[in-house]
Amino acid sequence: MPIATINPATGQVLKTYDPMSDEQVDAAIERADLAFGQLRGTTVAQRGQWLTAAADLLEAERDETARLMTTEMGKTYAAAKAEVTKCATACRFYAANAERMLADEPADAAAVSAKRAFVRYQPLGPVLAVMPWNFPLWQVMRFAAPALMAGNVGLLKHASNVPQTALYLEDLFRRAGFPEGAFSTLLVGSDAVDRILADPRVRAATLTGSEGAGRSIAQSAGRELKKTVLELGGSDPFVVMPSADLDQAAEVATTARCQNNGQSCIAAKRFIVHTDVFDAFAEKFAARMSALRVGDPMDENTDVGPLATDRGRDEVHEQVQDAVDNGATILCGGEKPTGDGWYYPPTVVTDLRPGMRMWAEEVFGPVAGLYRVSSYEEAIEVANGTSFGLGSNAWTTDPAEQERFATDLDAGNVFINGMTTSYPDLPFGGVKNSGYGRELSAVGMREFCNTKTVWIGEGQAGAGAGAHAE
Ligand code: NAP
Repeated sequence: MPIATINPATGQVLKTYDPMSDEQVDAAIERADLAFGQLRGTTVAQRGQWLTAAADLLEAERDETARLMTTEMGKTYAAAKAEVTKCATACRFYAANAERMLADEPADAAAVSAKRAFVRYQPLGPVLAVMPWNFPLWQVMRFAAPALMAGNVGLLKHASNVPQTALYLEDLFRRAGFPEGAFSTLLVGSDAVDRILADPRVRAATLTGSEGAGRSIAQSAGRELKKTVLELGGSDPFVVMPSADLDQAAEVATTARCQNNGQSCIAAKRFIVHTDVFDAFAEKFAARMSALRVGDPMDENTDVGPLATDRGRDEVHEQVQDAVDNGATILCGGEKPTGDGWYYPPTVVTDLRPGMRMWAEEVFGPVAGLYRVSSYEEAIEVANGTSFGLGSNAWTTDPAEQERFATDLDAGNVFINGMTTSYPDLPFGGVKNSGYGRELSAVGMREFCNTKTVWIGEGQAGAGAGAHAE
């Protein structure tokens, strides 16, 4: 894929970049390694000042940064502005809380025959971050803010269609005061990732993206014995039970499916509705989906902008076509528009069956699959009957049912009577083919820390009741 900004609203190529040579990449890794030597010697308070300065810059530059993202990948300008603000909030959160999250954790010294014992969290070094285009600022920030606060160094390989946002991020951290090389953007294609990961100075990697990319980097990292965190795709269930407030559920379902033009890993994608309320919910949902305004993402009246790539739109349309060809029913949308820009209408498809692509695959566009179930048990069976396990939603006002959903949904998060989102103070990540490891909160920050056990005695052998030789 060329490294280029192509405006999805027009299809126009606005800027292209030559990929960095191996020599340029090596020089960036060398700078990262040197920066690690510097950064690990700074205090958390100092790093917090730099991260706060990054938040200030983000807020001051919100509108132009948002415009850049809209131009590069087509999200609405309103959504882009909200994304910049969310990034600033995350920076402030980690600046304020990292001291506590990274503090030594005392252990019961007597239990381990020590004078003193504790756990210390220390940075690993340069971490490679391979990131997607769908939230071009937020996906990077939720890795970078905690990683830099912990004293790690970031090497960003961003998606090839958002190079300007990638360069903005490098510039942001430099202007905020972080040492030269503490956060670098590598303008390279995905074919360069293996070589970067094999460099001994690169200590770990994180990837947010598709299942295929996740498998590929996990294999390379396994060969190099390097830690990875993987945030991959999802096909989140949104279960509606008879006790739910249907108007509210249909309203949130529409937002949950069409946020970010339908291109979110945690968008609700499969709407699993109890038969008692199926028809009523389907009508309310389809009405709301068809009422969404599709158009120029810079227009403040637009709800849904274009998809980020022509290829992505073709893929979504092929998935819908496959369902229709095999007997599914379209309640609204489903037609690929002609004309400039990679637009796709909000679409609701029902009568889906196993064997159809939409049954098993993630649909990365504003297309909802609607499933009818006749019991709680069947709802869980359909909800969990996927290879993914990122987010999940259930709508019920019955407290006992809420408890059951919280336990039974096989996903990295469960949101009840609300839509899945991410917060700096809550762990975020998936199970099954949605990946492993967590981002955000203290859990996310510690993924790229050496959790070091420190045992201080008085010269004895460290033996005591329960001690083992290894
Ligand atoms: P993608 O094609 O996997 O690309 C993501 C990143 O991985 C890009 O930087 C890409 O580089 C790189 N990449 C692709 N193939 C690679 C390989 N074989 N080895 C190393 N790097 C590789 O994903 P996408 O289509 O841009 O993004 C959509 C996917 O991301 C969806 O599945 C979505 O659900 C998932 N996602 C997950 C989360 C989460 O938190 N779980 C969040 C957002 C998105 P190039 O651009 O140069 O190809």
